[in-house]
Amino acid sequence: MKALQYTQVGQHPVVVEVEKPSPGPGQVLIRVTAAGVCHSDEYVMSLSEEDYTAQGYPLPLTLGHEGVGVVEELGEGVEHVSVGDAVAVYGPWGCGRCHQCAQGKENYCVNAAAEGIKPPGLGAPGSMAEYMIVDDPRHLVPLGDLDPVENVSLTDAGLTPYHAIKASLPKLGAGTFAVVIGTGGLGHVGIQILKALSGAQVIALDVSDEKLELATHVGADHVVISDEHAAEAVRTITGGVGANAVFDFVGARPTMATAVAVAATEADVTIVGIGGGTVELGFGSIAYDAAVRVPYWGSRSELIEVLDLARAGRVSVETQRYSLDDAPSAYEALAAGTVRGRAVIVP
Ligand code: NAD
Ligand code: ZN
Ligand code: ZN
Repeated sequence: MKALQYTQVGQHPVVVEVEKPSPGPGQVLIRVTAAGVCHSDEYVMSLSEEDYTAQGYPLPLTLGHEGVGVVEELGEGVEHVSVGDAVAVYGPWGCGRCHQCAQGKENYCVNAAAEGIKPPGLGAPGSMAEYMIVDDPRHLVPLGDLDPVENVSLTDAGLTPYHAIKASLPKLGAGTFAVVIGTGGLGHVGIQILKALSGAQVIALDVSDEKLELATHVGADHVVISDEHAAEAVRTITGGVGANAVFDFVGARPTMATAVAVAATEADVTIVGIGGGTVELGFGSIAYDAAVRVPYWGSRSELIEVLDLARAGRVSVETQRYSLDDAPSAYEALAAGTVRGRAVIVP
């Protein structure tokens, strides 16, 4: 079968021919119907050889941590899924036994690192292939009649902002403001989740008018160019008070500085992007009682909720399709900043 693999540090990923896997006991083989292109893959492929190895990534690495498909074959002992079922893959695999996993929060599994459990596409072979192995049927959520290509990115570009936003909902009643920094794959879904679940007005920040046009298209109430004047513009929009929640989907030094600067008293500042930024915190450097969070991906139950939100027509992903053979050019477009919404690979 064909697969998109990162084979050499510093080189572009390539389409290669690999053996079609077969499911071991307890595993499920799915025929991939769509796989999303995430900026985190770009991050992984930007690591130096030393960091890549230190962070435990293998070579070759079959990319793709957003995946949906149809169940093709069941390993021994697998129950409750059937051949032919349309499924979405829950990516942040955990041990399934620890206190976090027991709550469905496998994204915060305490044993995954020690036991070498890695998400598909970020260690285990991912979804950018004709077939993929899912290690356990609990990592599958029914897709039902949701279109695979239009919805595959909800498994990360939907789930991650959903998890980030859900915790801040008590602070986002009517009359409040939420700021979304970076309106790409995650950000443009985040705006819709905020509009669907909160009473907040959404202020979107990005670096170009084209990106901000998408933000407006998906429901942002205000848009601001993300530069050194952005914090002042947000202060003005919020009547000087600041935003009650800030979601930074970039996580670079300048965006984190903006995020902290626009936070209102008791705001949540949530850094989702892994842009390598840091920010100094101390008394006087952020509004009183503001809280800073650094979440990762989301829980199993939250993936079910995000798919339900899509079924209700409350969120949708702006997608650009590529074939598996064309997958390397999807990554080039992502790096060039020319993807509108999410690039999706259709094997
Ligand atoms: P993307 O490339 O689709 O979107 C990024 C957006 O940020 C683009 O619209 C870009 O124009 C914009 N941007 C760049 N610099 C900016 C700046 N200075 N100010 C404002 N906007 C700016 O990326 P994505 O796939 O949506 O991922 C976003 C980030 O989230 C990445 O860093 C990714 O690695 C990270 N991520 C984190 C998690 C997590 O669990 N924490 C999960 C998935 C992705
Ligand atoms: Zn991702
Ligand atoms: Zn666990």
